[in-house]
This record gives sequence, structure tokens and C-alpha cells, in this order.
Amino acid sequence: MTDDAHPALDSIAERLGDRLTFPGDPRWNAVRSPWNLAIDQHPVAVAAPGDLDDLRALLAAARADGLQLAVQPSGHGASGTLDGTVLVRTAAFDRLEVDVEGPVARIGAGVRMGGVLEALAGTGLVAMSGTSGVVNATALTLAGGHSWFARSLGFASSSLRAVELLTADGRHRWLRDADDPELLWALRGAGGAFGVVTAIEIDLHPAPVLTGGRILFESTDAAPVFRATRREHLALMVAMAGLVPLLWWLLGLLKGSAPLVDSLVTSLSLAAQWLLNRRVLENWVWWIIVDLISIPLYASRGLPLIAALYVVFLALCVQGWVRWRALVAAEPVRAAA
Ligand SMILES: Cc1cc2nc3c(=O)[nH]c(=O)nc-3n(C[C@H](O)[C@H](O)[C@H](O)COP(=O)(O)OP(=O)(O)OC[C@H]3O[C@@H](n4cnc5c(N)ncnc54)[C@H](O)[C@@H]3O)c2cc1C
Repeated sequence: MTDDAHPALDSIAERLGDRLTFPGDPRWNAVRSPWNLAIDQHPVAVAAPGDLDDLRALLAAARADGLQLAVQPSGHGASGTLDGTVLVRTAAFDRLEVDVEGPVARIGAGVRMGGVLEALAGTGLVAMSGTSGVVNATALTLAGGHSWFARSLGFASSSLRAVELLTADGRHRWLRDADDPELLWALRGAGGAFGVVTAIEIDLHPAPVLTGGRILFESTDAAPVFRATRREHLALMVAMAGLVPLLWWLLGLLKGSAPLVDSLVTSLSLAAQWLLNRRVLENWVWWIIVDLISIPLYASRGLPLIAALYVVFLALCVQGWVRWRALVAAEPVRAAA
């Protein structure tokens, strides 16, 4: 309970039960903290309304007590102290509908962007997601939202078709451009300054052909990930078998002599490596063998720079190989491959 300064809020405490937390509660620090722990926020209370009726009751109580509401699904974008404010968590608004014909998605205010992308897997469609799957989809979109696909499709807020909004006067409705173009314009970037959004409807887009990117995974998952990407790994090896010798040869041309023989030896050794490669983890071993052959070869032909590069490369390979051994010890990949 709060002190007597917030009687209306106290009066709905029984209705909301565990979903309304006040300072002094053992859970207080956990519920008030944002994702961004650098921000130390001290709201009057933290509410996690279970449905629209809870939310309406909360809004009415906050108004009666002269308090503000701040919607903060997870607190990635937390920025202030929240004095005189009731913090609202939207996790219960977790409805998610995908219409692949639209193609649109209706997303509850508690849904994370990662959840939207998971629902779209296999449909050939994407939502305008940012870099992190745990950022809330509504918050990202209302804040403008810089997506992976921003350069071709604009900001995430440009894909916002409609919002389901609870305004300070207690009205709750879906709004589109035709209903209130200025409000929709403001919601596309100005965040939650105009009411509590309980759901959004966004355009979905055909998934682009990916030509680059990054894969992040736990180091303990490295072995299965590399098993799954074995083909790509081999393609890279083939490309290197062609490119590396070509570079060597061009370097030689610049120096005035073209070490074509060395280029061909490198090419052949890489090609042999690729042919002999049966399992991706063995790459390290082949790299090491190739290096051990190449270093004296280049050194004896008076190419100290290339020989030195191979020494560095060898050191990296040995280091990689040692790491792989540790990973394989943790999970017996060879047995499973
Ligand atoms: C790790 C990380 C990665 C990020 N990546 C990207 C990225 O790739 N692209 C990008 O554009 N941004 C990115 N951001 C910024 C992030 O998208 C914004 O800060 C976003 O607003 C965070 O949403 P949230 O729910 O997680 O944060 P919160 O702090 O919980 O919410 C942020 C604000 O959104 C408003 N809001 C949220 N939900 C509602 C609602 N239902 N009704 C009314 N208002 C609401 C409120 O004003 C609230 O203060 C990233 C942030 C982090 C920390």
C-alpha cells in the first residue's frame, strides 16, 4: 500500500492483487527495475494489468490521485526517475495474430519482436525488427524503430497501420490514418506520449534474400552450429583456394616478379585440403599441415613476408584447434556427425 497520498490507487490494490506492487514489497526492486539497470527509477507503484478492465481501473485511479502512467514493457528505453508515476508493464497483452494474406500482424503490447519473428518463420515474411529480439514490438515501433531493413523499407513506424489505444479520457479503440491522421502521425515516432497502446497492427514484408549478416550463439553451441553450416564452410574454403593464390600472384606482379609456382602450390594445397576435408572440425588440422609445408617452401624461395604471414596463420590455427578440442571434449561431435 502507498501512504494516504494515493487513496484511489490503494482502493484498487485488492482488485489487482499481486499485479500491483508498492515500495516495501519484497519484490519491489525486481519489479521496478528496468532492463537498463543503469537507470534507477522510483515509481509510486508498478502495475501489471491482466486485462483491459484492470488497465481502465488503473488509469482512473491514477487520474484521481493526480499521478501519471508510464508504460514500460521491459525498460530497454528507460530514461527517468519516474517520480509521481505509476509504472505499467504490458506482459499480459500477449495476443499475436498473423494474416499472411494481408500481409499484416496484430501484436499485443506485451509481445517482443523476437516472438513476432518466430511466428513468421516459414511464411516468407518479416516484420521490421531491430537488432534485439527481446525489445518490445510495440515500443520499438512507436519509437520510430530502426530495423535491419530500414534502408529499403524505412522506419518500423512507417509500417504501423493501426493502433489500439486507451486514451486519458478512458476511450479504447482501434485508430487508423482515416480516423485521426494527426494522432497516427504522432504515434509513429513519439512513443507513448498519447495514451496506452494495447495492440498495434503492422505491415509485414516479403523476406529479403540475405546476402550478409552475423550469427551469434553461445560458445557451448559452437559445435552443432558449425555442423549445420558445414556446406557454407566448404564453399568458403573453395573460394579461398582460388582467391588466396591470385592475391599472392598479384602481389608478386607488383614486386616485379610473379611467383606463379608458389601461387599454384598454394592453390593445390588448398584444393587438396578441401578434397580431404570430410568433417569440418578437421579443417584446423589441415590448415596446420598446409602451413607446416608452406613456411619452409616460401622461406626457401626468398619470400620472407609470405612465410611470416604463414607463421602468424599457423599460430592462429593452433590456437583454434586447441579451442575446438576443448569444445569437442564438451560435446562429442565426431560421434554424432
Ligand atoms: C539491446 C537493445 C537493442 C536495441 N536495438 C534497437 C534497434 O535495432 N533499432 C531501434 O530502433 N531501437 C533499438 N533499441 C532501442 C529500443 O527499440 C527502444 O528503446 C524501445 O523503445 C525499447 O522498447 P522496450 O519496451 O524494450 O523499452 P521500454 O523502456 O519498456 O519502453 C520504451 C518506451 O516506449 C513507450 N511504450 C512502450 N510500450 C508502450 C505502450 N504499449 N503504450 C504506450 N507507450 C509505450 C513508452 O514511452 C516507453 O517509455 C534497442 C535497445 C536496446 C537496449
